[in-house]
Amino acid sequence: MSAKEAATQGHSKQRMLEKDRKYVWHHMSPHNEGPMIIVSGEGCWLTDMDGNRYYDAISGLWCVNIGYGRKEMAKAAAEQMDNVAYVPMTQAHIPGIELAERISEWLGGGYRILFSNSGSEANEAAFKIARQYFNQIGQPERHKFISRHRAYHGSSMGALAATGQAQRKMRYEPLGTGFLHVPPPYCYRCPFGQNKDSCRMECAEIYDQVMEWEGAQTVAGVILEPVITGGGMIVPPQDYMKRVKEICDKHGALLIVDEVICGYGRSGRRFGHHNFGVQPDIVTMAKGLTSAYSPLSATAVREDLYDAFRLSGGLDHFRHINTFGGNPVSCAVANKNLEIIERERLVDHASELGRRLRDRLMSLASHPYVGDIRTFGFAAGIELVEDKETKKPASSDLIAKVMTACKQRGLLIGKNGDTTPGYANVLTLAPPFVAAFEEVDWMVSTLAIALSMLPLYDG
Ligand code: PLP
Repeated sequence: MSAKEAATQGHSKQRMLEKDRKYVWHHMSPHNEGPMIIVSGEGCWLTDMDGNRYYDAISGLWCVNIGYGRKEMAKAAAEQMDNVAYVPMTQAHIPGIELAERISEWLGGGYRILFSNSGSEANEAAFKIARQYFNQIGQPERHKFISRHRAYHGSSMGALAATGQAQRKMRYEPLGTGFLHVPPPYCYRCPFGQNKDSCRMECAEIYDQVMEWEGAQTVAGVILEPVITGGGMIVPPQDYMKRVKEICDKHGALLIVDEVICGYGRSGRRFGHHNFGVQPDIVTMAKGLTSAYSPLSATAVREDLYDAFRLSGGLDHFRHINTFGGNPVSCAVANKNLEIIERERLVDHASELGRRLRDRLMSLASHPYVGDIRTFGFAAGIELVEDKETKKPASSDLIAKVMTACKQRGLLIGKNGDTTPGYANVLTLAPPFVAAFEEVDWMVSTLAIALSMLPLYDG
């Protein structure tokens, strides 16, 4: 087979595009006339049907953390399929048992693990567990969850209700009920009108007020990401999460930490919350758990919460089932993924790469369109504005121009999802942890070229 045939896997690109146009409903985009058809991946690089190579600086959807093309991952999946391809989680299997132990250990111990397939499902399970837990310990009124504007927690009716992005929810409402939102810890555009000197961490204190005003006895929990990632890389003050946990404890509410993106090394630590010295009551995780080689997610629950589900008969056990959740092939893949991360010390490497990325990105700070640069571990957001004084957000047209100029140079970058209308103005970077330091430099210089091609605004 020639290189061209290998790249196209024997298919005509034209024919594939025609069939794509006819049959495929793409996610998150208006009718997509010309998607890239990707045929292979190796390390940080993807190859399309024409043989064009792209550096994937956003790891798919912030998920292919160990990079593409790992043969041992394929082998782990094949071997498990050969042994037994499926066992429901009403029973048990060895990769699942091993993985549950490993996840609990990665978290620092003391967690019970429930498997699902996706981040959305992991969060749905967390909400159900929290509500049932309170029911069973005699506090049935506690059913409300507090999350933040700009946060994303998934696409299903409960996870979307927790999401704080208007455009994602419009036309799908009513969603799950009992979800409230507070303003995000967004220092660049402080919702409380404060600056560095005047800040009293009102963004954390607001939880206290909201719980009191709502009736604290009705609040089941708070859900938050360690940093808001897809919603624009919004990094809170260092003491924010600790303060939120104190407020939860004061009012008897649970802290659910969504580690779907931040978990498994992206933050430069094993989990994002490890950067903030907080022990969550429930932790949800997905993407980096398998580096997206296979769908799998998990809801990790503090052992003493699980105790409330242990005893009695009747309706007291967790009446939740998920056909594919905890599939043994996905668990085997996750075990291999975590083994690779440990063996290659990829969490430490991600941390070092993150420092290099931050350092290099700072060279862009003086560019007229760069309003703010925010990083967390090996992830970054570059907020573009049309005017540094007024902070008027850059238009989606401007963002598209930068992304296209990068793509033409072989660099794929991301942007924040549609949040508040007019505020989809943050470019995002979250490359695989196998990136080389020189590649980090190249990413930033490519971005600099793309920015230099923009027309200058008057100002
Ligand atoms: N939580 C966070 C923080 C996410 O970024 C995502 C997806 O991007 C989800 C939850 C939902 O995960 P999934 O798309 O696997 O359902």
